[in-house]
Amino acid sequence: NNSIIRVPEPVNEPQFDYAVNSAARSQLKRALSELAAKTIEIPLIIGGREVNTGNRGQVVMPHQHAHKLADYHQAGEEEARMAIQAAMDAKTGWQRLRWEERAAIFLKAAELISGKYRFQINAASMLSTSKNAFQAEIDAACELIDFLRFNVYFAQTIYAEQPLRSSKGTWNYTQYRPLEGFVLAVTPFNFTAIAGNLAAAPAIMGNTVILKPASSSVYTPWLLMQIFKEAGLPDGVINFLPGPGSVVGDVCLASPHLGGVHFTGSTAVFQHIWKTIGKNITSYRAYPRIVGETGGKDFIFAHASADVDSLATACVRGAFEFQGQKCSAASRAYIPESLWPRVRGILETEVGRIKMGPVTDFRNFVNAVIDKGAFDTIRSAIEYAKTAEEAKIVTGGGCDDSQGYFIEPTIILTTNPKFKTMQEEIFGPVLTVYVYPDEDYPETLKTCDETSVYGLTGAIFANDRQAISQAMAALENAAGNFYINDKPTGAVVGQQPFGGARASGTNDKAGAASNLMRWVSPRTIKESF
Ligand code: NAP
Repeated sequence: NNSIIRVPEPVNEPQFDYAVNSAARSQLKRALSELAAKTIEIPLIIGGREVNTGNRGQVVMPHQHAHKLADYHQAGEEEARMAIQAAMDAKTGWQRLRWEERAAIFLKAAELISGKYRFQINAASMLSTSKNAFQAEIDAACELIDFLRFNVYFAQTIYAEQPLRSSKGTWNYTQYRPLEGFVLAVTPFNFTAIAGNLAAAPAIMGNTVILKPASSSVYTPWLLMQIFKEAGLPDGVINFLPGPGSVVGDVCLASPHLGGVHFTGSTAVFQHIWKTIGKNITSYRAYPRIVGETGGKDFIFAHASADVDSLATACVRGAFEFQGQKCSAASRAYIPESLWPRVRGILETEVGRIKMGPVTDFRNFVNAVIDKGAFDTIRSAIEYAKTAEEAKIVTGGGCDDSQGYFIEPTIILTTNPKFKTMQEEIFGPVLTVYVYPDEDYPETLKTCDETSVYGLTGAIFANDRQAISQAMAALENAAGNFYINDKPTGAVVGQQPFGGARASGTNDKAGAASNLMRWVSPRTIKESF
């Protein structure tokens, strides 16, 4: 499989700005109208065949939940077993293809998303997961395209690795074979790009995959399956298996052929998966690879030397873009007393200007959260803060699910750095602020680290270089992606490989060669002459 063919180094896909009166904006609006006007039926795809189970779930628009976009068929245990068989059947043919041929399929898929399907997939992402046009463009177009192109590039660096040293009369080399068995890709609701990457990364390395999309986000992964097919992906290489996570997951995790799990989602579900694999460990043919990117409680930490304007902007964008439903979203902030009055003033003004509403009005910055479950969890965290002695609401706090699942961007101020909403993941547009005495900078850094059960992203704002190095040392394991004077969100494929430590995951960095290495089982060959 080794190769010397060079894949040109990709550049990040440029974003469309959907400017008023632009052709792109009209095309996206047309795609939105077309998708909203019909209710489609989404089948499972097993071994290239569409399978209808009759056990239907619904895709609704979060910003107008009475509006159904699709019925989707849900897999049960039998279909999960069929998908395992299909993945195993497709394996030999897929892994025998030269890697360049596999790569070409994903490069073509990237081109199809970049051109022919861009507006359709963005419209589906907007309507079914309540992202505004600019957020959909970042996720379902650019990041997804980047994952596909960069992973091909990273794969080539693995396959083209320098030869091993061979002593006289011998010849040593390594083959980067796919894992034995199939890979289960379990995806979260919040990013189409992640769903695509979780399935495509193992497939690029020659594995066959079962793609289990989140039940609250089935539409765009299904479109992606159509795109992969059009790009030439052989039947059975990626099998599409929507259905309840516990049912589909448990059947796949019990299979002796499980080669790996590529997961993104909550810490609780990942821990369940890991425990289940532990329970079944003696039944597998090979130890399954377990890669998981999970929850976060991401911080912004400001020092008294910070620039107030950029700090306040980072709080607003970091916490409220994507409705805070981003694993990297800023959800706690530590602000020194001396800066707080000015920061608070800017936050109140800026949050007051934020427009919230349906994705179809492009002026709305904040849209609905994904579903009733998310809405209830976020509302109860806000209600808890409203009644707690140690907290008060600075701005926002309103919740309304009469038509769509809307939560106002909310800032909570607490006097306790260990307050519930300073520690627990809420996954919504809620930022909790703790104001500390300036002289307590070192102790407050320590408290931040101690309360960081998660370790996904974090940001330090300071102009004082000593303060920056102090923060980098004190928070060494509190963030897998650490930002200096920038918001803790918006990692770009090929620029900031992404992943967290502690309860935030195995830190196998999505969008890096190190992630792809997890999907191969290298074989070292020594031949003597
Ligand atoms: P979730 O509730 O954990 O669901 C994730 C996936 O796990 C879904 O496909 C779900 O299926 C499936 N699942 C549930 N129970 C399962 C089981 N017993 N066995 C196998 N699979 C099972 O997470 P989510 O609400 O979709 O996403 C939000 C979470 O993802 C947040 O915690 C966020 O921080 C995290 N996230 C992390 C990153 C990162 O890079 N670190 C990125 C994005 C999101 P069903 O939908 O059918 O239940």
